[in-house]
Amino acid sequence: ITNADPIEDHQICVCVRKRPLNKKEMAKKEVDVITTPDKHNTVVHECKLKVDLTKYLENHTFRFDYSFDDSASNETVYRYTAKPLVETIFERGMATCFAYGQTGSGKTHTMGGDFKGKDQDTSKGIYALAARDVFKLLNSAAYKNQDLIVGCSFFEIYGGKVFDLQNKKHKLRVLEDGKQQVQVVGLTEKHVTTVDDVLKLITEGNRTRTSGQTSANQHSSRSHAVFQIILRKRATRKLFGKFSLIDLAGNERGADTISSDRQTRMEGAEINKSLLALKECIRALGRPNSVHTPFRASKLTQVLRDSFIGERSKTCMIAMISPGSASCEHTLNTLRYADRVKEY
Ligand code: ADP
Ligand code: MG
Repeated sequence: ITNADPIEDHQICVCVRKRPLNKKEMAKKEVDVITTPDKHNTVVHECKLKVDLTKYLENHTFRFDYSFDDSASNETVYRYTAKPLVETIFERGMATCFAYGQTGSGKTHTMGGDFKGKDQDTSKGIYALAARDVFKLLNSAAYKNQDLIVGCSFFEIYGGKVFDLQNKKHKLRVLEDGKQQVQVVGLTEKHVTTVDDVLKLITEGNRTRTSGQTSANQHSSRSHAVFQIILRKRATRKLFGKFSLIDLAGNERGADTISSDRQTRMEGAEINKSLLALKECIRALGRPNSVHTPFRASKLTQVLRDSFIGERSKTCMIAMISPGSASCEHTLNTLRYADRVKEY
């Protein structure tokens, strides 16, 4: 990372990552409708019909801090998104990194690594890469004397409720004190000393998250997963810095508010509400004088409240997109949302 990289002087970094076309899409003869002409721009080539039913392409160009094409590795995406935020928490700051996008666009692949039954590979996800660099900095000459310890929390937010993924999905209460400090009561925080500790904990938490589900994506598309790396002073256990890494619910679920099924409708409304509030809270980070920030509008923004205030807070959003023509509408929705989050 050089000084010219935008995250150095921005509180908000917004990037987009396009995944490769998969076998299923190819079998359906879907075509790739996304191009990334340079490292900033993403273009959606939307296929439309004229009144006389002839086809034409409408091109939509979006500019972000970075646009990653389908050849980018997790390591590359990490380097330009979450990596610069690791330093933030060693400077007593609060950092957040969000993976946003429709189900199947690559949020979990990017954040947690790949989960395919027993042989999960969590070591290449952003959770693990961030943990690796946290330990690197912890033991570096610059921060060794701070005498810090590292803890991890892992929870999910589903239907406006918080569940501890390190304690059998135990339901947790969220309390706000008079000074508007938010606390998730009884949230497990495990002390970790190596990257391996963290990998085990992620694997375990994910197993807990998907237990009793017929498919991993079915449930995860309806809930937000929050993985936190917490720095504390060894002697006092006082909070020093916190990095929250969030695998958001599938944004297409927000549209489920019109479903005929009551449960699905409730979930959709909750997801919609939280993603709208999230957008406003991130925008407020870049505009400290904005009038009202709707932290309380959703559980997600309420529990992350302390990460959205203060000069030392930094955030990064990675908008994930599927390249296939059938996903075009969802892709445009995702890019428009990400566009609104940008700090300019
Ligand atoms: P989401 O969490 O957004 O629902 P996933 O991360 O589960 O999506 O991705 C869906 C599928 O696509 C998975 O099988 C995953 O391994 C694959 N995938 C996602 N992103 C990539 C990528 N950049 N390269 C290769 N495969 C990917
Ligand atoms: Mg997922």
